[in-house]
Amino acid sequence: MRTRWTLFEVMGIPVRADLSVLVLAAYVLFTTFPQIGVGLFLAVVLLVSILLHELAHSVVAMAFGGQVRDITLQLLGGCAAITRMPPKPSHEVLMAAAGPICSFALAAICMTAANWFPMRYPVMEIGDYVLTQEGPNEWLLLAGGLNLGLALFNLVPAFPMDGGRILRAGLQCLGRTKVTATEIAVRVGQGFAILWAAICVLDFMGMRFAAPAEWPLALQLIFNIVFGSGGILLLLIAYMIWVSGKRELDYVRWEETSYGGWR
Ligand SMILES: [Zn+2]
Repeated sequence: MRTRWTLFEVMGIPVRADLSVLVLAAYVLFTTFPQIGVGLFLAVVLLVSILLHELAHSVVAMAFGGQVRDITLQLLGGCAAITRMPPKPSHEVLMAAAGPICSFALAAICMTAANWFPMRYPVMEIGDYVLTQEGPNEWLLLAGGLNLGLALFNLVPAFPMDGGRILRAGLQCLGRTKVTATEIAVRVGQGFAILWAAICVLDFMGMRFAAPAEWPLALQLIFNIVFGSGGILLLLIAYMIWVSGKRELDYVRWEETSYGGWR
C-alpha cells in the first residue's frame, strides 16, 4: 500500500507527506479540542515550521556538498534524507544547528510581529460598551511559541535529534573518533529515551511534572519541554531515539571495521 505522496518541490527537493502525518495533525486537533480553529491553525503552522526547519538543514547540507534526496513530513516531525553527509565534523555541527537556528529565527519573527498588533480590536460600539475581538497577535504568539518549542526540543542532546548530532560532531571536533563520539551520543540519547518513557508511564498514572512558577521563564520552558509529558507522542519519540541510535551505532561500528573508519 502506498503511504507516501509527493506534494511539491522546493529548491529542487521533493517534499513528501507520509500518511502518518495525518496522525500528527489529529493529535494536535485532539490536544486543543474543543478549540477547533486553534487546532487547525496550530496543525498547519506546525507542518510549515517543520518543513522550514528541514529546509534549513538541507540548504546547509547542500552548501557543504551534501545531497538531499527528499524531505518527508511524518508523525514524528520531518526528515530530510541527506545522502552524502558533509565529511567534516565542523560542517556537521553547522548542518545540525541550522534547523534549530531556523526555528529560533521564526519564533523571534512571530513574537516581534505580535508586538505590532493590539491585543484586542474594537469591533462594534454600543453606547459606552466596546465589543472587541482577539487580535492576530494571539495567533502570532502561538506560532512563535511553537517554533521556540521546536528549536529547544530539537536541541536536547538525544541522538539522532539535532542536539545529539551536534554533541557527536562536537566530540569529534574535540578529537574523539567517530565511533567513540557516536557511542557517547547514543548512550546520552538512550538516557533521554529511558527518562521520557518513564515520564510517560508516570503521566499515564496521573503524575505530572512542571517547573515551579518562581523559576525564570526560560528555565521553566526548557524544563517543561524536557520533563513535561508529551503523552503518547513522547513515548514514540523515546522509542525512535532508542532504535535509530542503536542502528547508527551498529552502522558506524560496521563502517570502522569495513573501511578502517573516517576520523
Ligand atoms: Zn532538525
